[in-house]
Amino acid sequence: MQLAFTDAERAFRDEVRDFLATELPDDIRRRWQDGSMIFPDRDDAVRWQKILYNKGWIAPNWPEEYGGPGWTTAQKFIFEVETASAGAPPVIPLGLRMVGPVIMRYGTEEQKAHFLPRILASEDYWCQGYSEPGSGSDLASLRTRAVKEGDDYVINGSKIWTTHAHFADWMFALVRTSTEGKPQQGITFLLIPMDTPGIEIRPLITLGGHHEVNQVFFTDVRVPQSNRVGPENDGWTVAKYLLEFERGGSFHTGRINVNLARLRNLALEAGCLDEPGFRQRLAELEVEAEAVSMSELRMLSSLTTGQNPGAAASIIKLRGSEATQKATEMIMEAAGLYALPFEQLEQAAGGTNAPGVATPDETSSAGRYFGLRAATIFGGSSEVQRNILAKVSYGL
Ligand SMILES: Cc1cc2nc3c(=O)[nH]c(=O)nc-3n(C[C@H](O)[C@H](O)[C@H](O)COP(=O)(O)OP(=O)(O)OC[C@H]3O[C@@H](n4cnc5c(N)ncnc54)[C@H](O)[C@@H]3O)c2cc1C
Repeated sequence: MQLAFTDAERAFRDEVRDFLATELPDDIRRRWQDGSMIFPDRDDAVRWQKILYNKGWIAPNWPEEYGGPGWTTAQKFIFEVETASAGAPPVIPLGLRMVGPVIMRYGTEEQKAHFLPRILASEDYWCQGYSEPGSGSDLASLRTRAVKEGDDYVINGSKIWTTHAHFADWMFALVRTSTEGKPQQGITFLLIPMDTPGIEIRPLITLGGHHEVNQVFFTDVRVPQSNRVGPENDGWTVAKYLLEFERGGSFHTGRINVNLARLRNLALEAGCLDEPGFRQRLAELEVEAEAVSMSELRMLSSLTTGQNPGAAASIIKLRGSEATQKATEMIMEAAGLYALPFEQLEQAAGGTNAPGVATPDETSSAGRYFGLRAATIFGGSSEVQRNILAKVSYGL
């Protein structure tokens, strides 16, 4: 494998860097870098996505016929690394990296013509209605019911942990349309407009202190049957295809690199690099990050040739999320007391103000640490990824 970039690839990297230096708004970059949320807020995300859209760079993995830029694997890799290193927020994957590829593969011509251009231009904001109370890892046990009535499905039930449902125009959801046979056989994939009467959204505040996830309730929600993607009762096939993109489509190298850079700076300032044990763990983490990065490069190459990510997505999800968490754990260790938010610092200092002891970056270390605990849960927990790998690789 040739790991050095060619002259043309280096020229492309410079073009991306120039673009980022002039076009990435400073306020968006600052809010993303100093914040501790899993996704950027809707307004920042959509503003940045529209800038990328206008440049033609919003959907590196989409085929050119649907508006992709026609990049090589190396170009996609360079773009992902450079945008993350410049502090740009990631694009929200729900439309562009999850339901978009699904509609391309399983959608009707009408669905493709309507939704794909709107996803590309960030005109619709999406959320994912898979998990339910009691149905997370064991997703096939889901119970939200859709019953046919005339030209519609009538939906009753509840979805949980729905990221950004409070911002979303649309939800792609799994609903139960049959209780016959194996649980996987009675599931249907539906596109639900979030302004339909009967939908109620309640916030769930995370350990990081943010409103990113919700519980969504459906009471007699009517959705036209034409909003179904794929055949009735075969939504499991569609759902599994999407999950591979969810696991493989989020680019971990960027998040790991941002946290590694933070860690190196903090460790240097705090004198942690004088400790051989800390230094060794940092070096191991750097090696791990490099391995994830190379695996992502390989996976991008399979996406370029039109394959779906397969088991590689599980390896990358597992190792990428765990490496990110290790970085946030070491940041907490290096920052010590200063990792805590201001209020907690004040309490720790006996209720007095502790001016000048914490920079905004340090104050968000705890938030980021707590927020990213979720990385080994969403998109399928680490245990579930290991189960998939045991099945695929060893036939267990
Ligand atoms: C921040 C965040 C955002 C999310 N966003 C969304 C979203 O937008 N849309 C959506 O649909 N869902 C979302 N989820 C839900 C997520 O997909 C589920 O939390 C996840 O699938 C785990 O399901 P669960 O929470 O029900 O845990 P459970 O399935 O109850 O698992 C509990 C524990 O048991 C372990 N476990 C379960 N089964 C097995 C097994 N067979 N073998 C070994 N160990 C097992 C799990 O690893 C875990 O440690 C989000 C979750 C989080 C935390």
